[in-house]
Amino acid sequence: MIIVLLGPPGSGKGTQAELIYKKFNFFHFSTGNILRNEVKEKTKIGQEIESIINAGKLISDKIIIQIVDNKITEKLGHYKGFLFDGFPRNLDQAQALDTLLNKGNQTLSTVIQLYVDEKEAVKRIQKRKLEEKRQDDNEDVLKSRLKVYLNETKPLLDFYQKENKLNKINGMQTINDVNNQINDFILSLKNT
Ligand code: AMP
Repeated sequence: MIIVLLGPPGSGKGTQAELIYKKFNFFHFSTGNILRNEVKEKTKIGQEIESIINAGKLISDKIIIQIVDNKITEKLGHYKGFLFDGFPRNLDQAQALDTLLNKGNQTLSTVIQLYVDEKEAVKRIQKRKLEEKRQDDNEDVLKSRLKVYLNETKPLLDFYQKENKLNKINGMQTINDVNNQINDFILSLKNT
């Protein structure tokens, strides 16, 4: 099963992804984690992208699609599915994802949209800033990340709606309630 989790920064994508991938034995495909690791390890790519991540901008499609391509090849067949968290982030990436999955004889099963309003997203990021000390969780960078989400990622909702793949879940419930709803939904897909 191949699932994309979509939602603005602060929607709880990462938190839910952690719970889902463990329960269903999916590979947690977090492009943000992969990129932060490149930065931490000071790889060539890591050095190129550090300032872009810290500014809350998207890194180039060419780099991210190459990374995703390599990881799909490496992980395909080793897990019960993929849970994409943070990819795709724009239409070109969504089209590239379809192509890469086709190459491995796979198709996207569903897209789960976690919706939260802006006030709630800001509140959560401020909390995460204290807990995780992420460089890109300060107020200016958050504004930039929200803007990128609205301009580039939000159009994906229409794209996937037209493909009948979009499923909305209210992300403003408790972590447990959101998780139960997602689990039930994934189980219902498995049984069809
Ligand atoms: P995230 O942890 O998903 O919020 O990602 C953190 C940062 O990594 C983003 O603000 C971007 O700078 C970069 N990033 C993660 N995924 C992508 C992607 N699919 N395309 C471009 N940049 C990305």
